[in-house]
Amino acid sequence: MARYTGPVCKRCRREGQKLFLKGAKCYTEKCPVERRQYPPGHHGPASVRRRKQSDYAMQLREKQKVKRIYGLHEKQFRNLFEYAAGRPGVTGENLIIALESRLDNVVFRMGMTASRRQARQLVRHRHVAVNGSTVDIPSYRLSAGDEVALRSKSRDLDLVAASLEARTRPPLLDWLSLDEKKRVGRVVRAPTRGDIPLAAQEQLIVELYSK
Ligand code: SF4
Repeated sequence: MARYTGPVCKRCRREGQKLFLKGAKCYTEKCPVERRQYPPGHHGPASVRRRKQSDYAMQLREKQKVKRIYGLHEKQFRNLFEYAAGRPGVTGENLIIALESRLDNVVFRMGMTASRRQARQLVRHRHVAVNGSTVDIPSYRLSAGDEVALRSKSRDLDLVAASLEARTRPPLLDWLSLDEKKRVGRVVRAPTRGDIPLAAQEQLIVELYSK
């Protein structure tokens, strides 16, 4: 299935909340979620007046929301869920930790890009190295101790400089470190669910996939 290339703001409006899919622009542009508080489409305004959502609808929307935040296809997301379910511990937490450990997400969390979408492109275009070797797979799973760096030819990219200097850049998370000048970061330790600033009810996703 091809990657979605339509208007990303529609995806936020569908979930009824800001998912920050456009990075820095989400802070500077007028956000459609704030201006039109109903889902996109012809029946959007009418749907907000309808009756309460069913359990299934809530589970589905939660799954779609998380999937869209991390920019995954259904199959990728499902595979990650199967991986999380096979690990010891709480499946929902394992799922969020696995999403968070993806290379594209870590590049974004380090502040080298303003969005996960940009981070994915940076990885795909071979600008990123893990432990000294170029990795062009956005889903590459990082572990504690892994070093993530921009390759020498990529260190002066305008996109990276703009992102690192942006006022809207979120603070670096405890489980990551970054040398901004050298454009080298590290996964200091494996994250726990409590380390991850994601407002999601992952239990609803587990319930959906466990039907
Ligand atoms: Fe979502 Fe950002 Fe668009 Fe607002 S501006 S709808 S947060 S992508």
